[in-house]
Amino acid sequence: MRKVFNFSAGPAMLPEEVLLQAQAEMLDWNHTGMSIMELGHRGPEFKEVADQAEADIRELMSIPKNYQVFFLPGGATAQFAMVPLNLFGKNKTADYIDTGVWSKKAIAEASRYGTVNIAAKTQHQDHLAFIPHQNAWQINSDAAYLHYTPNETIDGLQFHWVPQTGNVPLVADMTSMILSQPIDVSQYGIIYAGAQKNIGQAGITVVIIRDDLIGDPLPHTPTLYSYKLHAEHHSFYNTPPTYSWYIAGLVLAWMKRQGGVSAIYEKNKRNAAKLYAVIDDNQDFYLCKIMPENRSMLNVMFYLANEQLTPVFLEQAEKLGLTNLRGHRVSGGVRASIYNGMPEKGVDILADFMRDFVKRNG
Ligand SMILES: *Cc1c(COP(=O)(O)O)cnc(C)c1O
Repeated sequence: MRKVFNFSAGPAMLPEEVLLQAQAEMLDWNHTGMSIMELGHRGPEFKEVADQAEADIRELMSIPKNYQVFFLPGGATAQFAMVPLNLFGKNKTADYIDTGVWSKKAIAEASRYGTVNIAAKTQHQDHLAFIPHQNAWQINSDAAYLHYTPNETIDGLQFHWVPQTGNVPLVADMTSMILSQPIDVSQYGIIYAGAQKNIGQAGITVVIIRDDLIGDPLPHTPTLYSYKLHAEHHSFYNTPPTYSWYIAGLVLAWMKRQGGVSAIYEKNKRNAAKLYAVIDDNQDFYLCKIMPENRSMLNVMFYLANEQLTPVFLEQAEKLGLTNLRGHRVSGGVRASIYNGMPEKGVDILADFMRDFVKRNG
């Protein structure tokens, strides 16, 4: 048993079972006498690992046949460029929803290649942040796509509905929420996610893309940034991040053993509800600055009303093995990131500690 529950926003906690399996297989993967990271990426052994990971994510997310699944390097940040480079086409214009730090980075990158229309932004009412509903958005019917961030990791803000964009493809940066709840993939044109929060370790990004969006990238697009190239080579144009792919495969198989996405979702919902209940029961002590309908299930952000107690809170939590609860350097406060790999026990200990901390300091 590990002694620490890691509430980091990413790279994040992995299931102990997965780490133990990786450890057991380290020196001799599947009787090859080698570690998987030493195996050729074009050999039949690695191909089996790669194919199984794809089959498992297809099964877990019920990905329709007219979508490709890529496993690519470069993190979600590479997708900030790949999406506009591949989808802008002739008009070179797209709609973006700005809900926080990660949306802004996606917007800044897309703006290098064309025109970005900010169709909507986070709003505030009574000092609480919320996402305006779609009827208040300024949507451009010529947009090549609409990009949004369903869960803003740093801001702790989440959409609990899916934008309806008609014929305009919907592009979602799901890095901090992929596989955390059931979704209908057919509502999206592209879904992408860096693996290090919900699917495994850093170094690999999952891209789920509808066939008809794999067109021609803009001229001067770097070779490795073309979706068409990755479709033609099944993510094997050059050496893929094999170990990250393997770990993602172990996590996906673990998810299936847990009962799939719906079971993980129930666990995630319970975890989030426990923490928000402590915050709501102690509103003079803990402040959540997000409207209830936009609170994140994966990144629970809150502040201590008495800010001087924040370092004390963090230090005492650390002593209990509750680590990496410090809020982002931009936002301050406390952030509990509770992704797919966070067991309920970690959240129970945190919730108890939060209640106890109020008793001792309230
Ligand atoms: C962490 C995160 C990113 C950055 O991912 P990298 O893999 O580091 O490029 C992008 N978007 C969201 C929503 C994130 O949470």
